[in-house]
Amino acid sequence: MNFIEFRNVEKSFGDNKVLTDINLSIEKGKLITLLGPSGCGKSTLLRCFAGLENMDQGSIFLDGSDITELPPRERQIGLVFQQYSLFPNMNVFENIAFGLKMKKTPAHQIEQMVREMIETVELKGKEEEYPHNLSGGQQQRVALARAIVMRPKVLLLDEPLSAIDAKLRKSLQKEIKRIQTHLGITTIFVTHDQDEAMILSDVIHLFNKGVIEQSGTPNQFYTQPK
Ligand code: ADP
Ligand code: MG
Repeated sequence: MNFIEFRNVEKSFGDNKVLTDINLSIEKGKLITLLGPSGCGKSTLLRCFAGLENMDQGSIFLDGSDITELPPRERQIGLVFQQYSLFPNMNVFENIAFGLKMKKTPAHQIEQMVREMIETVELKGKEEEYPHNLSGGQQQRVALARAIVMRPKVLLLDEPLSAIDAKLRKSLQKEIKRIQTHLGITTIFVTHDQDEAMILSDVIHLFNKGVIEQSGTPNQFYTQPK
């Protein structure tokens, strides 16, 4: 069994069948992308994995356990969305520390873990800044740090760079790849941008209308597109 397994996952909203018999295996430590046009079901699949959406059918396994019935907070999954969704009334340090505080982590440990994360995402010196004083790119670094500091088993990134302008996007893509490789964190990255998928992925799963049409490495997509 692989680190993550989706088995026969089905999901409809009313008459709208969004996911049709999704079967997906994901290896530990890899960055995989779900690539596909808007509305094809990418976010729905991520939300099912995170436990934020109920599936009509199928099961999901993570790290050897069936998590299908597990509530979201027990799944040990980190999430970053397109919208920055930081707490506006908390500074950078407090935003990143929030989840650890909720878990009642001792203060000295929080201090150390947050400082390390701030260095990893290269935001040193910005600890006291509030979200409204940060650029979109910096806000997404905070969102990334806030997710990763919890040491999730899996990181889910749902079009995290879509609201960021093209030039900065390229550098953040490199940054995400660097951090992901450095930490070896299993990551599912959702995008509708083919170039982004080609740059970032160990494996790409091409999604269309709720089915996976092709899976492979960027090189396989380049040399043998279906
Ligand atoms: P993507 O992330 O690939 O753009 P989504 O997973 O967000 O696509 O949406 C897939 C389809 O499911 C779309 O047709 C969308 O309108 C529909 N959908 C998503 N969430 C809901 C919901 N909560 N209620 C009804 N329809 C939804
Ligand atoms: Mg989406």
